[in-house]
Amino acid sequence: MHVQCLQVGMIETNCYILSDEARGECAIIDPGDEAGRVAAAVRKSGCTPTAILLTHGHYDHTEAVADLRRTYPGVTVYLNREDTPEFGAPGMLFPPVPDTRHYAEGDTVNVGNLTVKVLSTPGHSKGSVSLLCETALFSGDTLFAGDCGRTDLWGGDMEEMLRSLGRLGCLDGDFTVYPGHMESSTLELERKRNPWVRQGMRMLRTGNA
Ligand SMILES: [Zn+2]
Repeated sequence: MHVQCLQVGMIETNCYILSDEARGECAIIDPGDEAGRVAAAVRKSGCTPTAILLTHGHYDHTEAVADLRRTYPGVTVYLNREDTPEFGAPGMLFPPVPDTRHYAEGDTVNVGNLTVKVLSTPGHSKGSVSLLCETALFSGDTLFAGDCGRTDLWGGDMEEMLRSLGRLGCLDGDFTVYPGHMESSTLELERKRNPWVRQGMRMLRTGNA
């Protein structure tokens, strides 16, 4: 497994290329902008993209999808349906991404021989998911290094956010955390220092906020 990060667009979204180098296949996670730069990085990796995985439907995570689909007609695009205009999400913030396959809690996507597992982690948006692959946790705008995503946009909910962060904090073992913005971290460090993760874990253990 190999993970490459590119910061794309005006608000520096982290776009990740997750590769199974042995099989020569990769997934593009959250291509928020700069399709040309993303495609150049994919070319350099020598891998063929088979999937575009979206952690949620906000425009700054999805804007390069259409261009990349033209470059790679064979890719399948995955998004949780709760973040789509068909399910009431406002189109300004959640622009329609045509031809998506909807994924949700418990689904898996194969990338070469890698298995990516989908965890539903609402709070930043209704359809926010986190993606687990081996020791990597792609946390979208749910979990950031030392912080969490905002909950004041459409579909956001602080109590759900805390529950989601608590759930991530309670995962077994350690993971490298690859968030949707800013620097990466580890889950163990976030359990120690991230007040939102700590509050969420407490909340899950005691059953109340
Ligand atoms: Zn977002």
